[in-house]
Amino acid sequence: MAARTKAVDRTILISLILIRTRLLSIFWLTGLLYLSEILQSCLGKPTLRIAEPAKQKSYRILFSALFRSPALNNRLPWLAESFIGLPARRGDCPSRRTAPDHPPVTIGVTLGLRELWQLGYDQRRRLLPSCCLNYFEVIEMKLARAIFVLTLLLLTVTPLAHAQQFNIKTHTLKNGMKIIVEEDPSIPNVALYIFYRIGSRNERPGTTGLSHFFEHMMFNGAKKYGPKQFDRVMEDAGGSNNAYTSEDVTVYQDWFPKSALELIFDLEADRIANLSFDPQVVESERGVVASERRTSVDANNFGVLYEQLGATAFTAHPYQWPVIGWMVDIENWKMEDLKRHFEMGYSPSNATMVVSGDVQLAEIVRLAEKYIEPIPAHAPPPPVTTREPEQMGERRVTVNKFAQLPILMMGYHVPEARHADFYPLKVLQTVLFSGQSSRMYQRLVDRDQLAISINGSAEASFDPTLFIISAQPKDGIEPAAVEKVIDEELDRIKNGPVSDEELEKAKNILLAGFYRQMKTISGKANTLGTYEVFFGDYQKLFSAADDYRRVTREDLQRVARQYFQLRNRTVATLVPEKSSAKR
Ligand SMILES: [Zn+2]
Repeated sequence: MAARTKAVDRTILISLILIRTRLLSIFWLTGLLYLSEILQSCLGKPTLRIAEPAKQKSYRILFSALFRSPALNNRLPWLAESFIGLPARRGDCPSRRTAPDHPPVTIGVTLGLRELWQLGYDQRRRLLPSCCLNYFEVIEMKLARAIFVLTLLLLTVTPLAHAQQFNIKTHTLKNGMKIIVEEDPSIPNVALYIFYRIGSRNERPGTTGLSHFFEHMMFNGAKKYGPKQFDRVMEDAGGSNNAYTSEDVTVYQDWFPKSALELIFDLEADRIANLSFDPQVVESERGVVASERRTSVDANNFGVLYEQLGATAFTAHPYQWPVIGWMVDIENWKMEDLKRHFEMGYSPSNATMVVSGDVQLAEIVRLAEKYIEPIPAHAPPPPVTTREPEQMGERRVTVNKFAQLPILMMGYHVPEARHADFYPLKVLQTVLFSGQSSRMYQRLVDRDQLAISINGSAEASFDPTLFIISAQPKDGIEPAAVEKVIDEELDRIKNGPVSDEELEKAKNILLAGFYRQMKTISGKANTLGTYEVFFGDYQKLFSAADDYRRVTREDLQRVARQYFQLRNRTVATLVPEKSSAKR
């Protein structure tokens, strides 16, 4: 129940373990080995606590950290999940999985060392894939004592956490494009991201969906590299690419071996400077986007409801229309709309390039000066000055649609990314919605069994946005019943502070996720660019961890009271129509 928890530094941690355990228990040693590996390999300061459940003598070690070693990344979460009784994932051996960029995994779970200790050989055999089992056996039989000693030595002499070093340099071209270079020679690859500050918020009624349309068009050929050449040429050189569009930005992502660097500059410059507006290609892409809309929105119950929620919650601000655009607009964009939108959005001065990987600033600048700098700058999109007026009462919208189950969504107006409440809201979001131990999941899915799923979040945005909560009620449960319980949980947050443990866990989850994205070159490119455009300066990235840590229990209560108000919300409900007779 009320576990007594205490933050400890590594010395106390080790001492406690030494005092409170039978020293020679082989599994404790194995556990310690893991713990030490975690400590040694974690990136950023891990949070470690020893919790002593009131009624038991066993300890649980709570940790949340990011691992430097790919092998550990693959193995440990799996093991940890096994020991706390979650269903073991059978099948391929996690430690043999390899990925070129080793995406790390984080753990924010309780590793019950006592359970580990008590497992018999057969149980372990059942739980663990053979390679992990072997790992255990070897340690049991031969290495435990030696490793234990070594572990203690390492823990004593090496710093707890290594701060990751980032080598970041910037340069601005004469045409206004800012370039951020993160030199990381650890793998011979490069991630090059271009963030254009243009999204659906820069559209107007009649041109909705144009930004997303250009996300597509940019792959359809330019002057030097014709139709379908962009992908083909890049793939021939070992690269790959993708892109995404939001309300605020359109982002192009290239991943490639270092050898393809100059080619990528040539490809990118070609499509910025000389994109083809061949009417036949435009018409065919219009059809592609219309069909994407049919699948992702019109035939998707969550998609439809989400769109209606936004259209109801915003009356003035352009966040009211969907990123993909209204169908009637998709069908009616004119060629001059396209050209105007492209010219204002895809000006070098409206873009930030982020390069992370095996590169040096000097060579990036040389290539950028050769390929990008000659491209002239255009006038940027007119500033979006509209602010959504304060909502003066609850709004409700109903969608009647063929569906098996109803859906409930709520949107509360919350501030933009640069606002001081961004971080408290993120922590609050984590306490309420992150994972199966979160308050809302525990209450709605686990305890009361009212919903199949419950989610809630607000994403970083240029302008004030919505904190959206969405739930799928179980069969036979009315959305109103789910809504009532969500309200109760929101009231509970407003009326009583969260526990230290909950706050700590939420911060651990957020920090682990934050460090995790900084482990790969693509993650770094995306995060650097996101901080640059959403927070105004990529350097804000480096205070983000502290910004999370600074959030207090009082902050959570304050933002919950301020934003989770009935008058500030819109409730959208999808009510199933069992027959699809009405078309
Ligand atoms: Zn698309």
